[in-house]
Amino acid sequence: MMDDSFQTDLFGSLASSLWKSALPKKEEKTPHQISGDGTVLFRYAERLKKSIRCRKKFFENLYELELPGYMKSEEFYPVRELAAEWARITFKRKTVGNKEKSRELLSRIWKATDQILADMGKHPISGSTKFPPIRPVGKVHDLEKVFSAINETYFQGELQARITWSNRIGGLSFHTKRKDPLTGEEVNLISISRGYDFENCPLYAVAGVVYHECLHIVIPPVEVNGRRVVHGRNFRQRERRYIYYEQWIKWHKEVLPKNIRMMRKMKNFW
Ligand SMILES: [Zn+2]
Repeated sequence: MMDDSFQTDLFGSLASSLWKSALPKKEEKTPHQISGDGTVLFRYAERLKKSIRCRKKFFENLYELELPGYMKSEEFYPVRELAAEWARITFKRKTVGNKEKSRELLSRIWKATDQILADMGKHPISGSTKFPPIRPVGKVHDLEKVFSAINETYFQGELQARITWSNRIGGLSFHTKRKDPLTGEEVNLISISRGYDFENCPLYAVAGVVYHECLHIVIPPVEVNGRRVVHGRNFRQRERRYIYYEQWIKWHKEVLPKNIRMMRKMKNFW
């Protein structure tokens, strides 16, 4: 049991899935059974939808926590760790501070749960998500890869952002700041029009729009005489530093509108 959680801590979720497939089914002991630090055992109940229960305390530092069945899947790893933290707090003395911490953890647990369900293409449990589903892997292009190449090439790898294909048919590309449901911190969110996720879209074009949205992170809008200037002179100058700028703009003007028209037409058949 110790060995398994050790593996997962070192290599994260990717290794844990490799680990799982390498083990015979019966011997399988994966992080869905125990918290990363080994102090909280997870049990699952299908009847639970929006509740978690801390059932038992075995010893000083060993607890059993009951979670909804859907939290067993790999995607829920961060939520399970939050829930484990909550379980440890629950058995502590009920001070004002601990109660506050417990409430705060629960709120993060359910916000993160909704986010993960939305990312998986499922309905949220507790309410609508303010943070959109993050789906960087498209039919043709993987936005994570494009973003990291642009980040390395033009921004010394210093930009922090979550990037997704737009969840609306024919949606536009944009950058915005949102609160991350898991951490509560403000994060940069980049959403790219699905019009770029076509076979006819070369890498330089999708990289061009990702570069443009990245520039919005480093050159925030300014107020000039009461007007919000988003694409000022400085912005346009830096935009032209993208090596395929001309080719991207040409593609953006000539091909993107056709792709978007096609997507809207297709939508009527779904
Ligand atoms: Zn822009």
